[in-house]
Amino acid sequence: MEHLNQYQPPDLRLFDRLPEGFTGIAIEKLGSILPGPSLIRIEGEKGAPIFVSILLHGNETTGFSAMQQLLEGFGAPRRLLPRPMLLFVGNVAAAVRGVRKLDGQADYNRIWQGERYPEHLLARHVLAEIARAAPVAGIDLHNNTGKNPHYGCVNRLEHKSLSLARRFSKTIVWFTEPHEVLAVALSAICPAVTLECGVSGDATGTEHVENYLRHCLELPEEILFAPPANHHNDLFHTTARILLSEGTRPGFGQCDDSADICFREDLETLNFERVPEGTELGRFSKELPPIRVIDNMNETVTDRYLLFSENRILTRVPVVPSMFTRDVKIIRQDCLGYIMESYQLPEAPPPPDDPPPPEKPDPPEDHDEPELPEPIEKPPIEALPLVRRSF
Ligand SMILES: [Zn+2]
Repeated sequence: MEHLNQYQPPDLRLFDRLPEGFTGIAIEKLGSILPGPSLIRIEGEKGAPIFVSILLHGNETTGFSAMQQLLEGFGAPRRLLPRPMLLFVGNVAAAVRGVRKLDGQADYNRIWQGERYPEHLLARHVLAEIARAAPVAGIDLHNNTGKNPHYGCVNRLEHKSLSLARRFSKTIVWFTEPHEVLAVALSAICPAVTLECGVSGDATGTEHVENYLRHCLELPEEILFAPPANHHNDLFHTTARILLSEGTRPGFGQCDDSADICFREDLETLNFERVPEGTELGRFSKELPPIRVIDNMNETVTDRYLLFSENRILTRVPVVPSMFTRDVKIIRQDCLGYIMESYQLPEAPPPPDDPPPPEKPDPPEDHDEPELPEPIEKPPIEALPLVRRSF
């Protein structure tokens, strides 16, 4: 198989102990104790480990800061954690430089299926180690750049993964694309969740994640996976992505002539809001709009969601966007944002052999989350395939 970049696959460093200095080191110096992508076993008192992944994207630092505080609080590595942990520290080289990924590298959260890039070999090695450790749950920590609530993402609608997501936020996103993300691969091994922890560096996000991880280490398995008492969740399904044509120069608000496409100034505030049909998202200057929408099968579905009228870009149907961002680099490397639809989960009875013991719910969150919209449509859950893709 031809590899698309010229780099050697980065070696995976295996540690049987948390390296000294991890909890206090500045991220710019992380390379001095972790020479590259690292899988670290941290001892715990009992039980199967919990797997946690941080810094797949080098500039998403909340998971790193929360992990430092958490491990410092537990006195690791001198003292045992309540439960063992398998910690993956992903793109160290990018983290040291404060970027999502280095030029020429594959995106570390798009390498967990396939074999196109050298980094796929790294991913396969990591997955083999995770499978061997048989973790009780897998958690991948991320930030986003736009204005979004904290939310958990699942890739399978099964109760353990949903419980992990519910413990973090009342807002849950179910997605199957992009399927090359770590959490999709993880979900074939153990209950898995991706946590989107708001904007990188925000102290509220760090504290939220630290508390969440502490619960995951301290709670017995049967409580960890018991549905929390707050059943008022908002579940969204990601159905499409919005992409800009290659080489497009986007702008926001008052754009000058150099912008090919000019989005509304407050685009990011539309995230997780119900956006009615006919809403103007922006304008374009060329003859053809340099924007398209693709669905989960990579089919172009622009006309299903967008309408172009006199160089204006309008929504054709009501949509709930997420991860709309003004970060041009992210738009180029990933996408402008996602389109979601709202779903309602039925009250699932607990499985007969795994009854949830009585438990106090996690304290209600107090984030500045927008009031979520009325669902656009609520097809019965039985009509949904539980897994859209076989892993
Ligand atoms: Zn990320």
